[in-house]
Amino acid sequence: MVQSSVLGFPRIGAFRELKKTTEAYWSGKVGKDELFKVGKEIRENNWKLQKAAGVDVIASNDFSYYDQVLDLSLLFNAIPERYTKYELDPIDTLFAMGRGLQRKATDSEKAVDVTALEMVKWFDSNYHYVRPTFSHSTEFKLNGQKPVDEYLEAKKLGIETRPVVVGPVSYLFLGKADKDSLDLEPISLLEKILPVYAELLAKLSAAGATSVQIDEPILVLDLPEKVQAAFKTAYEYLANAKNIPKLVVASYFGDVRPNLASIKGLPVHGFHFDFVRAPEQFDEVVAALTAEQVLSVGIIDGRNIWKADFSEAVAFVEKAIAALGKDRVIVATSSSLLHTPVDLTNEKKLDSEIKNWFSFATQKLDEVVVVAKAVSGEDVKEALSVNAAAIKSRKDSAITNDADVQKKVDSINEKLSSRAAAFPERLAAQKGKFNLPLFPTTTIGSFPQTKDIRINRNKFTKGEITAEQYDTFIKSEIEKVVRFQEEIGLDVLVHGEPERNDMVQYFGEQLKGFAFTTNGWVQSYGSRYVRPPVVVGDVSRPHAMSVKESVYAQSISKKPMKGMLTGPITVLRWSFPRNDVSQKVQAPQLGLDMRDEVNELEPPSVEVIQVDEPAIREGLPLRSGQERSDYLKYATESFRIGTSGVKNTNQIHSHFCYSDLDPNHIKALDADVVSIEFSKKDDPNYIQEFSNYPNHIGLGLFDIHSPRIPSKEEFIARIGEILKVYPADKFWVNPDCGLKTRGWEEVRASLTNMVEAAKTYREKY
Ligand code: GLN
Ligand code: ZN
Repeated sequence: MVQSSVLGFPRIGAFRELKKTTEAYWSGKVGKDELFKVGKEIRENNWKLQKAAGVDVIASNDFSYYDQVLDLSLLFNAIPERYTKYELDPIDTLFAMGRGLQRKATDSEKAVDVTALEMVKWFDSNYHYVRPTFSHSTEFKLNGQKPVDEYLEAKKLGIETRPVVVGPVSYLFLGKADKDSLDLEPISLLEKILPVYAELLAKLSAAGATSVQIDEPILVLDLPEKVQAAFKTAYEYLANAKNIPKLVVASYFGDVRPNLASIKGLPVHGFHFDFVRAPEQFDEVVAALTAEQVLSVGIIDGRNIWKADFSEAVAFVEKAIAALGKDRVIVATSSSLLHTPVDLTNEKKLDSEIKNWFSFATQKLDEVVVVAKAVSGEDVKEALSVNAAAIKSRKDSAITNDADVQKKVDSINEKLSSRAAAFPERLAAQKGKFNLPLFPTTTIGSFPQTKDIRINRNKFTKGEITAEQYDTFIKSEIEKVVRFQEEIGLDVLVHGEPERNDMVQYFGEQLKGFAFTTNGWVQSYGSRYVRPPVVVGDVSRPHAMSVKESVYAQSISKKPMKGMLTGPITVLRWSFPRNDVSQKVQAPQLGLDMRDEVNELEPPSVEVIQVDEPAIREGLPLRSGQERSDYLKYATESFRIGTSGVKNTNQIHSHFCYSDLDPNHIKALDADVVSIEFSKKDDPNYIQEFSNYPNHIGLGLFDIHSPRIPSKEEFIARIGEILKVYPADKFWVNPDCGLKTRGWEEVRASLTNMVEAAKTYREKY
């Protein structure tokens, strides 16, 4: 019998149970017992579900209260001193590292004030991990035994699991040096960390685990030679250590071939590769296996919600069996299912034709099992024919293809994607018009999404209030935000986005060619989950999407107001894209829709328009080369199609966050002003790279993921730090990102301090 395997299951609960309790815990409404109880319930449900579906290899330690990489940092004691000095409980240390902590002193507790560690994109997904942060004083040691505890927890239920941990080479390479140790190369810590890995693995083995999934996802990246060589060092060390379970090294999200030489012949039990993303690596990776090694064939997509095509999947696995024999092949999800929503059966409102094309995490369990049974020779005819009918229905559907959209795309030409004049000329025109001070202050768009806003939106969705009542409510929210910004002295205002549930969903809902879920939540970071829309067919814009709110906001203020849109790449990346046509086909369709929106915004009054593209970096193919340059070409062109219809006097802004942005990647967008997440970037060389960027930039000055409030002095110090490298005349002052997840009190205090700091510098320059 060929085994089936799932690399990890979503840990948020089918109805966001984890979010609800973690947030209740943070606000002091429930205690640790309740938090841990809910965590345990989720883990147990997940294991039981997989067991019942007939999955053979079930993961444990795929659960986390915040992030699985952060869990490892806590476990390995890679905890910067600024977090240990408060002597918090482990779980509170974890949260402090993940989101920062600021707490006044009480009778029993000391005051705490610490910023969060940096958070970055997990490869090209919309999940974010907390970056391990090392210094010369980092002393690795086992600081607990979460993987062992969770393994035993499953075992108690009679469920044998395969624990999963991020492997040593990826863990180090994905980390960075702390600000006190900028000369430290994380990979140089390999020898220090290996004994701790060995100790953990031995503990797992002693608890009964026979096999461990050790994730080395960096195998799909371009790696420096030193890092390539680290695989041999690491896995030979572990193979020689005592009492180590069988190791299956897992990679996903791409092609490992350029790094194949570094893993060929490693003394491990087997490998997992992602053949959904990179089927073309098959022959070479199979040829690189030793005569005993097993191959876990990642064939059920862990990143998207489309049903697998069973006939293709079965044929692919059969190829593997022909090469290796049944005993050496495992049928698996391509990656952890963390990136997919939990259960399709909870979707009651989805059109039944479309719903029949989808498969969420729970359904994917059955998919892995059916494929494993099919290749084992079991009778699954019924399942195969039901699947074939669904695949055919999607291919033939009128929802998928729209001839009008295709015609419009064919009319795209060079002129459509270039501004009338180059940046210097536009800058001069805009200066005269907006007359902004030096160090202009602005925000990224959203203001707190309060309970009141959510209640009213809910009432409107349910039909409990009329469209007019909702409109009046939104207008009053906009007015509140506008008056607040005027009061504290911001220069370029925003309307606050109170009408938006989410920056992508809001636009998706108004475009044709999208479908939506009711419970399709996916973890983005910590307790922030998103509900990505699904691109089901060719996309078009039946009506204006944001004009009413932006025009209203500008009408009530004399200060310039930014119209706020989400760019084509971000809409696409933060949706589940089609898998029947490439993203290169889908992106310009969205560019055309944005163009219509921008052009409709401009004539009445909105003269500054920000088109957010935070996902542009995450969409970048993981390796340099042709695929990457193709992407940059169509991504930036789609943005310019959207934004180049405006007059020279009007200002196009764009915004990026969550990643190590390379200024070269955004040059081609030709935006007049960009704002980027920057508060966690300390490396002067990195700041220097942005100094050479020709247009104006707001380097984000504070972390909006954290409730912590930076003082005016802190802002002054940070601006001063950046000014050592970055020119004052291009310097905009803004937070890292939108403020929707923050409370009003924090926003008022932080922004006031930020504006005051900018004023201080205006006097100096
Ligand atoms: N305008 C959006 C906001 O302020 C941008 C969010 C983002 O970049 N993630 O919320
Ligand atoms: Zn952002």
